[in-house]
Amino acid sequence: MDGSALPEVRSTCPYCGVGCGVLLRANGQGGLDVRGDPDHPTNRGRLCSKGTALGETVGREGRLLAPRINGVTVDWESALDTVASRFSQTIAEHGPDSVAFYVSGQLLTEDYYVANKLMKGFIGSANIDTNSRLCMASTVAGHRRAFGSDTVPGTYEDLEQADLIVLVGSNLAWCHPVLSQRIQAARAQRPEMKLVVVDPRRTASCDGADMHLQLRNGADVALFNALLAEIDRTGAHDPEFLTHVEGAGAAFAAARSTDTSVTGLSPEQIRAFTDLWINTKRVVTVFSQGVNQSTSGSDKVNAILNCHLASGRIGQPGMGPFSVTGQPNAMGGREVGGLANMLACHLELENAVHRQVVQDYWQAPAMPSAPGLKAVKMFSAVGAGNIKALWIIHTNPAVSMPDADAVTAAIKSCDFTVVSDITGATDTARLCDVQLPATAWAEKSGTVTNSDRTISRQRAALPAPGQARPDWQILAEVGRRMGWSDAFTYASPADIFDEYAKLSDLAAAQGRDFDISGLSGLTPDGYDRLEPTRWPVSKTRQGGRFFADGQFYTPSGKAQMLALQHRAPAAKSGPRFPFRLNTGRVRDQWHSMTRTGKSPRLSAHLAEPFLEIHPQDAAKQGFNPADLISVRSTQGSAILRVLITDAVLPGEVFAPIHWTNETAPSARIDALIPSFTDPVSGQPESKAAVVALSKF
Ligand code: SF4
Repeated sequence: MDGSALPEVRSTCPYCGVGCGVLLRANGQGGLDVRGDPDHPTNRGRLCSKGTALGETVGREGRLLAPRINGVTVDWESALDTVASRFSQTIAEHGPDSVAFYVSGQLLTEDYYVANKLMKGFIGSANIDTNSRLCMASTVAGHRRAFGSDTVPGTYEDLEQADLIVLVGSNLAWCHPVLSQRIQAARAQRPEMKLVVVDPRRTASCDGADMHLQLRNGADVALFNALLAEIDRTGAHDPEFLTHVEGAGAAFAAARSTDTSVTGLSPEQIRAFTDLWINTKRVVTVFSQGVNQSTSGSDKVNAILNCHLASGRIGQPGMGPFSVTGQPNAMGGREVGGLANMLACHLELENAVHRQVVQDYWQAPAMPSAPGLKAVKMFSAVGAGNIKALWIIHTNPAVSMPDADAVTAAIKSCDFTVVSDITGATDTARLCDVQLPATAWAEKSGTVTNSDRTISRQRAALPAPGQARPDWQILAEVGRRMGWSDAFTYASPADIFDEYAKLSDLAAAQGRDFDISGLSGLTPDGYDRLEPTRWPVSKTRQGGRFFADGQFYTPSGKAQMLALQHRAPAAKSGPRFPFRLNTGRVRDQWHSMTRTGKSPRLSAHLAEPFLEIHPQDAAKQGFNPADLISVRSTQGSAILRVLITDAVLPGEVFAPIHWTNETAPSARIDALIPSFTDPVSGQPESKAAVVALSKF
């Protein structure tokens, strides 16, 4: 077939939360040509290395093509009946909180909506959580504490309009490359625009930066408290904006009492940073997993928000705190209630009025009144036998959860486990009783929301292989078989989106920020043609920034500044475990490499796992370049090739997260990570384990 005769399909990249538009053209032989969408407002045709190689990652190789029960291929009817009857039976015997869903930021919003409705509205438990808990739950908690809502105030245009960008715990150049490219392009046009990187590790994002503050792992609150104290001392606060803020006095007092020596930075370095920040009006502070993945992650987020609130640098062009999310639909999952402590449309699970609004709208028999189990506690409950039926959707917790060996054992021990995925060969899928084949990116259709609240369509350009089905359909089929046929009658993702958009109208009437009521009533054709749209989108409002007007979503209508103090990472280093282990992504791989691992050119960038160590530490340990090193923590061990570099501080080491039992069984980094979590957000501290090292 002449592939050029097939039309291009507009869709969205399935990797990071930048949310780049892509144009897909099926080549007629199961393959796909991919290029950046010049008309998508996020990327205007740009793609990074991962996006460019998307066409190399499709195909049937390794795909799960039919349902299986205990490794035996079965038909869909048998598989769905088994899932529905086992969940129903478990609920009947042990109650609704004996079952759980663990889902993913890879899900489309419509899939997420149905999963959340089934668990919270009909099963009657809040035991649905998502791997986004590992990614940005601390930001959600920080936003809600400060703003009364999980609102990203700014837009991507702010990154180009700022005079100072501060990257905190974010290797934007590798993890959100197109945003990094947009900043670099803006700096090329306005060389006076400054870039500061706050990171314990020297990353690619430091190339060309005006300043790199190589602070000690976990010391972000102390640094931003130093900035807040200086804002206060120099009178750089905004008295008018502070009339819209509560808690400023206590926050300033706490900041003044902070011991900044814990940052490991010199007073001169801190002074240079605070002077630059205070003397620049248009500041955007971009933060990511280095802030979130911490036992003080929520406090770190609020320490950043404090500075923007105190100085009024929020909601205006080129100003504001800006969280960038790791996954393609982490934001959509937050909006649709995919977290164990949220309802759809940013309605609050613990608010009785909000619960009633959702229950009435869904005509749901039961709604939980308390948050469900967050990811780490969910797998602890599985291991303890309290969760007896578990459905894992598009994620690989046997690799990606902290204390991954214990999570593996927990899944193995669970009475009944289901996995929906595109492959049956993940470390998690191999453990599960039932495997359900789901459609993959480029085969499925729905919406995603990126880091600046832009909702974009993902569209199918390839047929579903074998018997693979969309997740919303699988979930709805199970809901119907569990006895709720009227509630799960959707014929298409457009039906689900319409129900969701109408619910957002009710949420807006409750004073919530999330409002896409302007997108309700779309015809199937209108849904199919939906252009990238930044919410809010209602009859009266379209896109734009939040909070310039000083109106917040707290009960008082005022933003909250918090009095914060530095807390060190939970795992303490000492003679037995003298090194602090930082973890993260590499440029060309994504999560556990299910997709990116198929591309030879992506795998060529960094072909094997490694451990970065400072030259002084390598010398003390007697390590030579490329030695194999045994890495041990209280939880587990790994074997990695050593990379000697002063990109890391003495006493700290770094390893990437991507390798699995299938690709490098000795390098599963999350097997080393203890399951300490932030007490507010429940997000695990994935970047601050303590380890011992020796030659292998
Ligand atoms: Fe995809 Fe992110 Fe790269 Fe854009 S920046 S092409 S969304 S991985």
